[in-house]
Formats: sequence, C-alpha cells, structure tokens
Amino acid sequence: MSGAATPSTNDALLELRGAVRRYASGDQQVVALRGIDFSVGRGEMVALIGASGSGKSTLMNILGCLDRLSEGSYRVAGQDTSELGPEQLAELRRAHFGFIFQRYNLLSQLSAQANVEMPAVYANLDAQERHARARALLERLGLGGRATHLPRELSGGQQQRVSIARALINGGEVILADEPTGALDSANGREVLELLMELNRQGHTIIVATHDFHVAGCAQRIVEVADGVIVSDRRTDRAAPRPIPHDSEPTLVPAPIFSRSPWERFFEVTKMAWTALLAHRLRSGLTLLGVVIGIVSVTMMVAVGESASRVLEDKFGSVLKLKELIIYPGHVAGDPFGPRIRTLKPSDVQALRREPYVLSATFQTYTTALLRYRSFNRDGSAVGVGPGYFDFQGFHIKLGSGFTQEDFDRQAPVTVIDDRTHKQFFGDGNPLNKVIYIGSLPCVVVGVVAQKPGWAEPGNRLSVFLPYTTSNARLTGRNYLDMVWVRLQQNTTGEEGVERISNLLAERHRAKDVWVDNNDASIRAMESFSWSLRMLLAAIAAISLIVGGIGVMNIMLVSVSERAREIGVRVAVGARQADIRRQFLIEAVVLCLMGAVLGVLLSFILSYAATYALPPGWDIRLSATAILAATLCAALTGLVFGYFPARNAAALDPVDALSRD
Ligand code: ADP
Ligand code: MG
Repeated sequence: MSGAATPSTNDALLELRGAVRRYASGDQQVVALRGIDFSVGRGEMVALIGASGSGKSTLMNILGCLDRLSEGSYRVAGQDTSELGPEQLAELRRAHFGFIFQRYNLLSQLSAQANVEMPAVYANLDAQERHARARALLERLGLGGRATHLPRELSGGQQQRVSIARALINGGEVILADEPTGALDSANGREVLELLMELNRQGHTIIVATHDFHVAGCAQRIVEVADGVIVSDRRTDRAAPRPIPHDSEPTLVPAPIFSRSPWERFFEVTKMAWTALLAHRLRSGLTLLGVVIGIVSVTMMVAVGESASRVLEDKFGSVLKLKELIIYPGHVAGDPFGPRIRTLKPSDVQALRREPYVLSATFQTYTTALLRYRSFNRDGSAVGVGPGYFDFQGFHIKLGSGFTQEDFDRQAPVTVIDDRTHKQFFGDGNPLNKVIYIGSLPCVVVGVVAQKPGWAEPGNRLSVFLPYTTSNARLTGRNYLDMVWVRLQQNTTGEEGVERISNLLAERHRAKDVWVDNNDASIRAMESFSWSLRMLLAAIAAISLIVGGIGVMNIMLVSVSERAREIGVRVAVGARQADIRRQFLIEAVVLCLMGAVLGVLLSFILSYAATYALPPGWDIRLSATAILAATLCAALTGLVFGYFPARNAAALDPVDALSRD
C-alpha cells in the first residue's frame, strides 16, 4: 500500500497539471510552485508536508481557488478553473471548499455561532436553517455552550473547532487545512486531527498542509513538497479502502440552499455593517460627529434660508409679489418741473382701471401744511387720497376707520392721522372725533393708521390723510394728482405695463407728460438677493457635508486596510466581490444615516434655541424639506464617499489580505 498511487485522471476531484505560481517581489520574481502535477481523489485525506517556504500555502490557496496559477491548469471535478470568473470561483469556495487556518481567522467581533454561519450567509441559506445547522455543528464539536462567546473568550483549541464548524456549514466537501495544529498545544492539536480524520471517514476530502511528520502521519497519503516541487508522494498504512460515502451524519450533508429574498439579504448585510461599526465605537462615533455637523448645517441652512425669505417677504412682500408701477407727472424720469404739470386727473385713473392688464389703481395728492391741535403745532404732510388708498398701500388702520364714499362725495372735513401724529398731539389719549387744524381747515379725526414699514415721509414729518376731494376743494384748490399707483395683472410684464400706460395717457393728454416708474428692477434685485443668500447658505452646508463625507471616506479607508484580514476571510469562505463592496458601502451609508438621525434631532434642539436667540420674526422652523434634504444628503454622502473605499475592499487580493496582521 505504498508508492505513487495517484488516482486516475477521470477519477480526480482536484487536479493540477504543470502548475507554476510566480510572485513578483520587488524587481525579482519568486517562483513558489515550479511545475506541479498533483491530483486528489474524492474522499482522500492528503498531507502536504514540507519545510517552511516550500510552497505549501501557495498550493493550498490554488487548490481552494483563492489564488490563480501563473502557468498550468487546475481542474475541479473536471472543470478547468481558468475558464471560471470571480463569481463562479466564489461560488466554488462557498459551496465546496472549507478553509481551516493556522491562526483560526475568526472574526473577532462576531460570536462563535455568527462566525460559523458566515459562509451560509453568503450562500443565501435561509436564516432559520442556518441557525439550526450552526448550533448542531457547534454541539457536535463540543461547543454547544459556547455559541454566543466571542473568539477572544475561547481557547485556541475551541477557536479551531469553531473554524472547523465554519468550514462545514455549507457542506465542506473539500477541507483545506493549512497548519491547523500549528498554534495549538499537542493535546488540542491531536483533538483537531482526530476531528479531521473523523470527517474524512464520513466522506470529506481533506488536505492538510504541515511541516510536522506526526500530523502528516494521520493522512492516508503524504505528499512532500520542497522548493516548489513535489519530491515524493506515498500512501501510509492509514490508507483505507474507499471511505463510505457520507450518509448517516445529517449535519455534514450539504443542505438545500434556499435563496433568500433581496430584502432579507439586505437586512443581513445591514446587521453585519452595524456589528462592524459597533466594534470600533470611538472611531465610528467621531466619524458620526463629522456627519452630524454636516447634517445639522444642511438642515439649519435650509431653515435659515427659509426663515430669511419669510422675513424678506414680510418686509417687502408687496414689492416681491406685485408688479407695481407709479405714474408721476413729468416729461422725463425724475422731471423737476413735474409738479407744474397739471394734467393727471382722477378720470385718468378711472380709465386705467378699465384696462385689462390693470389689477388695481389708486392715487394721491400731496401738500405740506401746518398741523395744529389746541396749542400744539407742527409742520406736516397733508395727503389727499383716492378711494381704496389704505387697502392698496397696505396701511393698517389701528383706530377708527378710513374714508367712506360719502366723505369723498361731500368733500367732508375728516382726516386719518398717522400714529406719530397721534402720539405727538394726543399722547395716549383717544384722538377720535377730536378736531385738528390742517392749515386753516378744521378736520375731525376719524381714524389712526400705523406707520408702514418702509414708508418714510420726507424730513420725517407727521402725516395726515384727507379725501382727495376735500384736499382739492378746501385745502389746495387744485384738481390734479401728484402720484398714481397701478398694479398689473400677473401675466403682464413691467415693461409692457409701462409702455401701454404711457401710450394710453399720452393719447388722453395729447402729450407725453407723465413718466412711469417700474419696480421690476427691484423685484429682480430682491429675487437675486434672496437667491444669492440661499446659494451662500447652500454652499456652506455643502462644504460641511463634504468635510463630513471626507471623514467617512477616511475612516472607511482606514477600516479597509485594518480589516484586510477580515476581508480575506470573508472571501475565503465564499463572499463575492459584490458582497464585500456592498458591505463597506452599507457601513458608510448606515454611518451617514445615523448621522442624519442624530443631526435632525440636534437641529430640532438648535432651532428651538435659535428662535429664542434671534430677533422676533426670525423663527427658525425645521421644515419637512430640510429633514428630507438632510436624509438624502446623508445617504448620498455615504454612497459617494463610501464607494471608493468599498471598491478598494472588493479589489483586495484575498491571499495577500489573509497574510496581513
Ligand atoms: P509555506 O507555506 O510552505 O511555508 P509558502 O507557500 O507560503 O510556503 O511560500 C512559498 C514561497 O513563495 C516562499 O519563498 C515565499 O517567500 C514565497 N511567497 C509566498 N507568498 C508570496 C507573496 N505574496 N509574494 C512574494 N513571495 C511570496
Ligand atoms: Mg504556509
């Protein structure tokens, strides 16, 4: 039962022909395997023995489809692996191979059971089935009570048994054990070997790489490797007749693999991401802080921007919303001789009101007069107003009322005073029905209007208002107007309005003797100001988000290089590149979304605080828009800044990754 009894080619499960593996090491090339012909039959237990550096691990990695040959061919169950893509190789690792490493390579943040389940997660095994299988395997390997322990809470022997369970969860048809006893004391080492032998008896194909002849002695066949070539291949006295095919051991038979729903898969990956983030709390926390600051600045900037436009609208709402033209007498804009032109009449305003593009119109006359009440007197403005003037101008009548049609018809000596006149002449007293003199005209006070924001009388004089008929007949003796206001329909532009009104009045007056002032320019100025303000705020928010995002990217990059070994393990147990990429991407997104949640909470607190701290009118409200914007920004930040690290992680060479500390 000795000699090079290589199984025949068609029988071989694994078959290498002319296998060469070269490594580029700096400028030099290291040849780790130099032309190896080697095959393993189904159900064999083979020991690869050789000194350190002889090429055993390289060979194991090739056999396990973790690494590719530089030259030669490798067939698994007759299938040439050079024809397989990364996805199919991952599937092969997942479904047929189980790795056992010298240093166990368990993921430190996962419990024993979660470690065992990992290959099944990538195989999309149904969660319940997976839990049951993992528990059964742990039970069988004497670790029933240790399922929830973390690797650091287990002894070396226990950890290695967990890693054997991991190799078995998807079936473990071929088990590749690279120095499985290398880190164990002899008792534990023997126990692991016994386990491997038992698995072999149950039908598993087992390949053990070792430098230890005692270990090799457990195999039926010992293949000696030296300097990248096979120097001997012989059977031992352990060589048994073909082992019985696995039958009675339920846990070792590959279970039917249920495909889980994408949603369940997503949940699984998210849970994994969460565990990974928890494993580095401080680091995740600091990154989170960066994201939170970014999010808070987004929500606050949106809120401040909205609040600012509300303030602008309150202050200049009529200007912003309404297209308003003012008609002055004069041949050119700002004509100093305008006041001498006497052609603008109330009948012109009647005519304007009939025009289809005119929404509304009002007018005023203006004169200065000495205002007197008892012994007080002051210079003031006497404004003769048209019907509907107070409404049109948005004056708020605080006391009493405006003028009635009868007042206009009767040229009634009544007046509405502004609140400064009220204060000056009456203090806190009631001015209604008192008589004040406007020039020589005694007038009954019928109302008080609040000073309108932005309404400044020249020289800050007191203002009183009369019906224009009263003012014309009893005060000035004039019959013409000083100013006419026109509001345009929304579908008419300012320019158009100016043009049509000028033409209409030129026709009526048979002369071009009025000019029309257009507030379109101020609307545009206001809008552009409001827009610039929003842009500025958005820029600030964007910058802080980018800073937060760079923080995320930084942490993910660190995380990728720090967790290279973890990535290697995941790939070795059958993770696809897409799985690895998704995991890191989701970690970044989870981090950013957590940042969004905390950021929105903080924003609520800040918005309350700001409402107290800012002048009245500036109430900072968090809008749904702001919250939505923040959440979207966060997810997007995670995706954008997580992409590059995730791609790096997925591109990592698993062999290289596994050899890192
Ligand atoms: P063993 O497992 O038998 O100790 P290895 O397969 O790890 O041997 O290594 C075989 C040879 O290949 C050694 O000379 C080693 O230095 C070289 N080698 C292994 N991996 C790499 C690598 N990634 N880059 C360069 N040389 C490597
Ligand atoms: Mg090695």
